[in-house]
Amino acid sequence: MKIGVLSLQGDFFEHEQTLARLKTQAIEVRRKEHFDGINGLIIPGGESTVFSILLKRQGLEVFLREKILGGLPVFGTCAGAIMLSKKIVNEKNFSPIGVLGIHVKRNSYGRQNESFETNLKVKGLKHEVKCFFIRAPEIVKVDKGVEVLARLENKPVLVKQGHIMASTFHTEIIGETAIHELFLKECEEFRAEKKFA
Ligand code: GLN
Repeated sequence: MKIGVLSLQGDFFEHEQTLARLKTQAIEVRRKEHFDGINGLIIPGGESTVFSILLKRQGLEVFLREKILGGLPVFGTCAGAIMLSKKIVNEKNFSPIGVLGIHVKRNSYGRQNESFETNLKVKGLKHEVKCFFIRAPEIVKVDKGVEVLARLENKPVLVKQGHIMASTFHTEIIGETAIHELFLKECEEFRAEKKFA
């Protein structure tokens, strides 16, 4: 399988390393032609304001939305989750891609030095997963049809809507692979469906 990692900005390299641990080929995606042949896409953490500017500059904003609506599995982490959301409640300067039925609040857990790690129970996984929250957004509203896979203090932090997954935390920075494995299952299904289409 080939998994694209949006490599315009942010911690794309850590996602590539996590995929390498799972013996999965990572493709750095910066332009439209890089989408050819990928079975899924990861939007890494970083700065959503910058993502928004760079997506526009690369002419990828509408293209990416169409790809995801067309069935391409996507996993957004932190800033990536913000980009996928339907609405950012405390942001007026840019709009998200709007494919995932969640409303988010940026930087909801405070500043960089208030970053923290914690272990979370995740639906479908036997062991707890070590997760890092780095200037993370909070998911303040979840639409019908969005499944909550993990919560922190009762607030959703990992969600899934069909082939779209989003976490407000990071696991890729310590080489934890469990959440990525969940995503790769989605990508396998997409690949199988496409084969028989
Ligand atoms: N604070 C960033 C934003 O709002 C997200 C931080 C991250 O991706 N770790 O875009």
